[in-house]
Amino acid sequence: MTIATFREEVRNWVEENFTEEIVNAAEGSDAQRQGVRLLADKGWIAPNWPVEYGGAGLGFREHIALVKELRAANVPLPHDNGGQALGMIGPTLLEFGTQEQKLRHLPGMARGEVQWCQGYSEPGSGSDLASLSTKAVRDGDHYLINGQKIWTSGADGADWIYVLVRTDPDAPKHNGISLVLVDMDQPGVTVKPIRLISGASPFCETFFDDAIATDLIGELNQGWTIGKRLLQHERSGISGMGASGAASSPTTRQRYRLAELAKEYLGEASGGRISDSVFRSDVIRHQLNQRSLQLTLNRTREENASGNTLGHVTSIFKAVGADQDKTHTALQMKIMGSRGIGWQGTGFTPHELGATRTWLGSHASSIAGGTNEVQLNIIAKRVLGLPD
Ligand SMILES: Cc1cc2nc3c(=O)[nH]c(=O)nc-3n(C[C@H](O)[C@H](O)[C@H](O)COP(=O)(O)OP(=O)(O)OC[C@H]3O[C@@H](n4cnc5c(N)ncnc54)[C@H](O)[C@@H]3O)c2cc1C
Repeated sequence: MTIATFREEVRNWVEENFTEEIVNAAEGSDAQRQGVRLLADKGWIAPNWPVEYGGAGLGFREHIALVKELRAANVPLPHDNGGQALGMIGPTLLEFGTQEQKLRHLPGMARGEVQWCQGYSEPGSGSDLASLSTKAVRDGDHYLINGQKIWTSGADGADWIYVLVRTDPDAPKHNGISLVLVDMDQPGVTVKPIRLISGASPFCETFFDDAIATDLIGELNQGWTIGKRLLQHERSGISGMGASGAASSPTTRQRYRLAELAKEYLGEASGGRISDSVFRSDVIRHQLNQRSLQLTLNRTREENASGNTLGHVTSIFKAVGADQDKTHTALQMKIMGSRGIGWQGTGFTPHELGATRTWLGSHASSIAGGTNEVQLNIIAKRVLGLPD
């Protein structure tokens, strides 16, 4: 089947099945659940996964085509805590899990029914993740975990957590780590949300007191390699390297269009140009960089249509993308001036209040999934081969 025929099939199916009520359904409503079920039955929540694990076995180009059609029709996808299941632990299990683990865990993710979160960072281990000290000891057919994780996004709404733990305290730090899966619904797991100045926050602290881990992923003490692989999936997702990224327009992540914003706040010169020449060249420079990034992402995808564009190169896209995001919102603030620093109240439009939050939020992009400094270290050592 050609991609064009496939796209037409998707369009027809969406038109037949996704009524306006389902498309506009509120989170948690019956109509929303029905929409999720319809997609899950087609295997279209995890379209590129094998059918036996709840996917549809689609190739990369079909996957992109599907995402484009679903997006164009505003078909809502199930909540996935920032891609934790479908974009991170799911693909990691596909690569490193046993058949039994895959059959037990993947279908729940592919139906959008099980929420996952990430237990990597600890109060004393962020960038130096390999220094982590949460401990796991073997106890019969499972492991007992003790310790604390922090910044666990969405832990208060998650059913399962994947956790990097220390299983050999005597080995060099990278060689004594394992990756395990923990059911959050047990007395040994406690989650405490972290409040931020904004009032709302996805962050939590997660405590383990003799918590039971049922699954060891891959070999004992090989968790560092597997955990790093998962981070490549995370960085690939953040930077838009995957199929979902390909289906985004260049400005999807950057909702405030700078040229329009500049004309609105700074005025228009003849020929529809931004009146202030300094801002004009700042905006043009940024947009050229953004376009280059998009074209390079597209080329990388084309060169590797298997969709397996992973590797240390994910760090380049992650770091450049984060810098672009921050430059974009900084320009947005410069253009809007005092109109861009509103926090609440009727003195600002909703658009302006949103801009403040987008600007503040953009600063997380060079921290989440490993800071930009850490990405630069990886690029220097693993991509450019520079000495340690
Ligand atoms: C939005 C968001 C969501 C997150 N979600 C999760 C989650 O779900 N689960 C989870 O486990 N974690 C999560 N994190 C945590 C994130 O992984 C860490 O914040 C990150 O790895 C940095 O660790 P840290 O905060 O301890 O900073 P630190 O490691 O203390 O770093 C402080 C500063 O020192 C710099 N630095 C440190 N070491 C070096 C070095 N060797 N060379 C150069 N500079 C260095 C850093 O770049 C940084 O600027 C999330 C973070 C954010 C912002």
